[in-house]
Amino acid sequence: MSDCIFCKIAEKKIPAKVVYEDDRAIAFDDVAPQAPVHTLVIPKKHVATVLDITPEDHGLVGHLFKVAATIAKEKGIAEKGFRLVMNTNADGGQSVYHIHLHILGGRAMHWPPG
Ligand code: AMP
Repeated sequence: MSDCIFCKIAEKKIPAKVVYEDDRAIAFDDVAPQAPVHTLVIPKKHVATVLDITPEDHGLVGHLFKVAATIAKEKGIAEKGFRLVMNTNADGGQSVYHIHLHILGGRAMHWPPG
């Protein structure tokens, strides 16, 4: 999608600190980290929100979780623990309308979230 910042990152039209990439997904460190580890995993396919996931995307979404787990292990936060977040729409705090899993770790997470 031409005006989507995460599509532009996936297409290498704007720079990002990419930590993982394959044919379906790409992961890069968040530009405004909220924890010592804050990485985003996105599909290369544009899907605006979790509400727009179709049955044909189910395998893709599962893949995003697998990639997130791999990155958590590589970044050394898997054993102590980490949080995966997908914000949705305004009240969920979504600011970029291209689905992404936030991987947050490197410190204890709080509950309830803000
Ligand atoms: P959300 O608010 O859940 O939609 O998350 C969007 C995230 O994308 C925020 O944590 C932003 O800091 C992050 N972000 C926005 N632009 C960029 C960028 N160019 N590179 C890396 N992270 C970004």
